[in-house]
Amino acid sequence: MTYDPNNVFARILKGEIPCKKVYEDAFALAFHDIAPKAPVHVLVIPKGAYVSWNDFSEKAPAEEIAGFVRAVGAVARQLGLEEPGYRMLINTGRDGGQEVPHLHVHLFGGRVLGRMIPDGV
Ligand code: 5GP
Repeated sequence: MTYDPNNVFARILKGEIPCKKVYEDAFALAFHDIAPKAPVHVLVIPKGAYVSWNDFSEKAPAEEIAGFVRAVGAVARQLGLEEPGYRMLINTGRDGGQEVPHLHVHLFGGRVLGRMIPDGV
């Protein structure tokens, strides 16, 4: 899949759509999800143009991968989630339920989050 430079997260990165920012550095931007599924629901996105985890893990330079991974951890610590704990989720592709075609890590916290995934195979 080719990257769509007009996807909603690309537009947030360009400042064309507002967001409730919680963190920004050279590699990542983090902001509150518009439709939170937990008391804390933050999205962390890389600044580079990557469609998905698949795209990012295959094509991103090591410096960008390291920077992004460190940024996700920094966001979780900044939000005070390290001790009570939290969950990270990356939906990927059709079966993964990915809706926005710019890589994003969901960070959930603020309550006991329950089972990892609904039952059923
Ligand atoms: P996905 O299903 O692709 O993993 O998750 C996309 C997420 O982006 C959803 O949780 C959705 O609520 C969130 N989202 C979609 N559009 C916007 C937006 O314009 N602003 C923010 N902050 N979140 C958005």
